[in-house]
Amino acid sequence: MAIREGAWDCAYCGRKRNRGPHRHCAGCGVTRGRDVEFYLPEDAAEVTDAAGLAAATAGADWTCGSCAGDNRAGDGFCGNCGAPRDGGAARPVYDVPIADAGLPAGRPASGAARMGGRPPRFTPYTSNGVSRVASWTQERAAGPSVLTRLLCAVAACAVLALFLLPAVSSRAGSDSRSWSEVSQAGGFPEFAAPRTPPEPPDHDENYTVTAAHWERIRLVYGPVTRTREDWEGQVPAGARELSRSQQIHHYDKVQTGSRTRTRTHTERVQVGTERTSHTERVKTGTRRVKTGTRNLGNGYFQDVYKNEPVYGNKTVYSTKPRYENRTRTETYQEPVYEQQPRYRTKIRYEIDEVVEVRRETAAGAAPAEPRWPAVELRAGELRVANGPEAYMIDLIGESGARHTRAFESLAEWLDYRPGAACTARVTYTGRIRSLALAPVAPPATAPAPASAPAPVEAGAVDEPPRAE
Ligand SMILES: [Zn+2]
Ligand SMILES: [Zn+2]
Repeated sequence: MAIREGAWDCAYCGRKRNRGPHRHCAGCGVTRGRDVEFYLPEDAAEVTDAAGLAAATAGADWTCGSCAGDNRAGDGFCGNCGAPRDGGAARPVYDVPIADAGLPAGRPASGAARMGGRPPRFTPYTSNGVSRVASWTQERAAGPSVLTRLLCAVAACAVLALFLLPAVSSRAGSDSRSWSEVSQAGGFPEFAAPRTPPEPPDHDENYTVTAAHWERIRLVYGPVTRTREDWEGQVPAGARELSRSQQIHHYDKVQTGSRTRTRTHTERVQVGTERTSHTERVKTGTRRVKTGTRNLGNGYFQDVYKNEPVYGNKTVYSTKPRYENRTRTETYQEPVYEQQPRYRTKIRYEIDEVVEVRRETAAGAAPAEPRWPAVELRAGELRVANGPEAYMIDLIGESGARHTRAFESLAEWLDYRPGAACTARVTYTGRIRSLALAPVAPPATAPAPASAPAPVEAGAVDEPPRAE
């Protein structure tokens, strides 16, 4: 923390290098004032005496408000004119980086701004101030115009949307495809749901029954002899065995022996270790570096230091395992397999089965009532059963359309006699969706019971199975 004595130049008589602590010019005796800058000469000697060090560390000089002369920090009255200190400002204390040592460039701007009648040698504040004011004015000028432009753009969009929306939606009524194209291209997705055209409604039409016809089928069953084959144990009861033979049922995988084979293994084995090293940069200590000087404001300068880390290289050793591939050959026994057939007994046999051998059909139209066909069992036939039955009517509409309609039940069919009037719900494609009899007076005579089956031959009565 060496302290050295600075110097100052007299602006009045031009004398260079007055001693820093001196408050009067050695050439003309003029008082040192605030507009005088201190500097540190290259060859300035270090201050070592107690009085000098005390003066250096006493604090910055203050400037008299009356005569502008400098005074020691401890003085209460101006040594030049005798005025009390009373607010006389201290000279600035500031650091000068090492590159600019001795030059006033690092001096705070406020100190320079307070300098008196002489034009300042450096005026960063003034130039900065001007440019800052200028740029602030530009911002002020630019601010509202940007805002105005933004507002105009938003307003224009809103107006455009107001005009566009009704125009587009009025088009939507006449041409939905172009509307969906518009909405896909840009913008109003809530209106883009596709619409399927509604189906045209049904209509009622009056029909007249022109004919009512029926069909009934009876099925005749008889025995047939079939020849089949099955594995022993799976032959059905009642079968008559014809022959038996040994046949391959399945194959088993059986080990019949083994053979000796060799194979090689490659393994990664550790064969030792290897020593490696690398260099690391480590902090080995700190050193003090002079970074500049401090203008103490009283003609003295003090060196400024900082601590800086010092780095060095360090070699770090480590060991790691070393591997090699080792190959070894081994022998082993490999099993040998064979597919061996397994035989079982297969039986060929005859068996009698009852199947439908023929069918008889009866058909007719109202006023003939439905009946089952008469069947006589022939030789070898076993039985007869009622089969499918069908009940249909033909219709003609007032528009001339003709339909045939089938009924699920005989009772329903019986309601639709030829000549009966009915009302149909008809789809736009002409299909009859539902049919209802027009209200008419009930017929004078009830129809004969029709569900009674026709009499059948003795020994052949069965409940009618509807399905085959
Ligand atoms: Zn002078
Ligand atoms: Zn004074």
